[in-house]
Amino acid sequence: MSASAGRMHFINVRLPLREDNQWYELKAEGGKWISIRQQGGFLDAAVAGVTRALVPALAGTDLKKLDEAECIDLQGGIMLPGLVDCHMHLDKAFSLEQVSNISGTLQEAIENYSQAVPDFSKEQLAVRMLAAARLALSYGTTTIRSHLDFPVHFGKEVAFRTIAAALEVREKLSGRMKIQYSLMVPFRGDQRVVDEAVAEALRMGIDVLGGAPHLAADPEGEISRIFRLAEQYGVPVDLHADESDDPGKRTVLNIAEHTIRYGYQGRVTAGHLCSLSAMDEKDAQVVITKMKEACLNAVTLPAVNLYLQGREDRGLVRRGTTRIRELLAADIPLAAASDNIQDPFHPFGRADLTQIAQITSYAAHMGGVEDLRQLLRMITDIPAGIVGSEGYGIQEGNACDFVVTDAADVTQLLSGTSMSRWVYTCGGWQSGLYAAHAYAMDKQ
Ligand SMILES: [Zn+2]
Repeated sequence: MSASAGRMHFINVRLPLREDNQWYELKAEGGKWISIRQQGGFLDAAVAGVTRALVPALAGTDLKKLDEAECIDLQGGIMLPGLVDCHMHLDKAFSLEQVSNISGTLQEAIENYSQAVPDFSKEQLAVRMLAAARLALSYGTTTIRSHLDFPVHFGKEVAFRTIAAALEVREKLSGRMKIQYSLMVPFRGDQRVVDEAVAEALRMGIDVLGGAPHLAADPEGEISRIFRLAEQYGVPVDLHADESDDPGKRTVLNIAEHTIRYGYQGRVTAGHLCSLSAMDEKDAQVVITKMKEACLNAVTLPAVNLYLQGREDRGLVRRGTTRIRELLAADIPLAAASDNIQDPFHPFGRADLTQIAQITSYAAHMGGVEDLRQLLRMITDIPAGIVGSEGYGIQEGNACDFVVTDAADVTQLLSGTSMSRWVYTCGGWQSGLYAAHAYAMDKQ
């Protein structure tokens, strides 16, 4: 039987999200996990009752071979549930060629990108979005939440180009990965026109309302408006919050108050929170306590914030990443995500969440065994909870949605010495990325 019938058999698998450090044998039928069993050590294929066990590295990127394998022997390689990138900007990805950012500041990125938007055709946007989503999938991301610009002040035709491109890309990739869209509700332009446009975008299939109210002249008014719209249409809220070096920026307090007032606990996410890291200890604790009270979710975007923030500082330069360890210690669901890929906000990045986990480790000094597991949780089950993925995780009864690698351990995975990934979701193998050099190093 083949995986195309939804039947799979894995041996010698490590599941690093579990604390037991055991080797596992996993079986699936009908695209669901039916058995996940500790082996108690290395399992020989013959003992497991299979005559031929395929090692993924030997299949390379030939997904058909994996599909037809009677049994797949990971030889101690890692399996994670499909990674969840809960904060991307697919519409901006790969725009660096068209949109520069000489100063490297957030402000110039926003200005230059905003000016360029009317020149992007729907086709150009779709090509870039598709490329970014596919790249993410190749590295093991099976669920994306992408924010989308919505520049209604340039006219509805321009604003809806991005929406149309985004929906087209989601349709094209349906059956390969899951994509959610969060609308950046604009604070410029005629409010009535904007509100009507937001309603239309939601009717078309946009899932979440967002925005960056800390940039508005009246942040509180903007936050109120976004919550009012979210409640009216019954959708979650995902805001860019306090992406600033200014310790005085505390719109997150207002977001928390609105969350409580609207009974939106658990349905609101605050991304960035850079100013939280610039505050003194006492003020930061006040903010974190309020976030906890409102059951806010949080997202750190370490690659982009390390790149953009602290630009004006000399000497001790602020790093810009939020208080990662403190938020985790307060038990606030904190995910790590990509944000921008090769655009004026961030010239680098490859939509690889293991790289983001590595950068998070640098930013927050996380390297112990428990830290590494926490970093993996920040790109798997925590963001899965934020985006509301149901039946997520490698558990009996859940759908098969996973990425396997031939990394010997989590350190090797986050170091990037083994880049190999084989991705299974939506009932089939979707992508294979095989780094021959890593394999060659192993075999020397
Ligand atoms: Zn963002």
